[in-house]
Amino acid sequence: MAAVRRGRKLFEGKWKILFETEHPDRLIQRFKDAPTFAGARAPVKLARRGAMKNGISAALFGLLHRNGIPTHFLEVLSDREMLVRRLEMIRLEVVVRNLVAGSLAKRLGMEVGTPLAAPVLEHYYKSDALGDPFVNDFHVNALGLASGEELKAIREVAFRANGILLPFFAEREILLVDFKLEFGRHDGRLMVGDELTPDGCRFWDRSTRERLGKDRTRRSPAREAATYQEVFQRICS
Ligand code: UDP
Repeated sequence: MAAVRRGRKLFEGKWKILFETEHPDRLIQRFKDAPTFAGARAPVKLARRGAMKNGISAALFGLLHRNGIPTHFLEVLSDREMLVRRLEMIRLEVVVRNLVAGSLAKRLGMEVGTPLAAPVLEHYYKSDALGDPFVNDFHVNALGLASGEELKAIREVAFRANGILLPFFAEREILLVDFKLEFGRHDGRLMVGDELTPDGCRFWDRSTRERLGKDRTRRSPAREAATYQEVFQRICS
């Protein structure tokens, strides 16, 4: 493990803090145990959540990397910290869905759990002020978020990532219902950035269809703690 000195805090988001390092192209990404946001609902604080987020993201980014998908992940530095490449982030949340759930069920009136004949890809404009609205290619263009070519490449990578992640999770008895990726530019190259954890993915147990990981209803912190830990073990052990 390389000795990397933590520099100035660059950014603090809901789940993570980015610090500069001595190397202008590299950052330290530190995961938090509880999200900080001004939401109406109290955040669920799980012991060691930050460490599990770090471990799960490292495992999944490593898997993508080994299968030819570039990500910002370089190496794990400590329990809650990883070394990443500095990206110029594209302000889009790219969601890939294999089964109907969440906002798709509501928007299209489809039953939760319906398998999709082909994966569905959506993008949302990352804007807290606007509540991350759903956007199409024309909106992306109008907002100047990404070029047509970049959008095409983003989709291609997102579907390829789905094709890599699906069997990985199936082997661990997990249904990958949907997940969110974020992309950035590094030296003109497109890379997957941010995190890949239960906080941005929907995982169900393959046989019982029990919801694993983040409890979106936030009704039971104890259950969320148990299922988050369960996902961590299935991915990281
Ligand atoms: N997602 C996310 N961040 C967001 C919105 C969605 O990571 O700001 C993820 C979410 O965890 C889920 C997928 O994208 O795995 C699809 O989310 P959906 O649109 O169904 O919204 P939700 O029901 O999660 O609010």
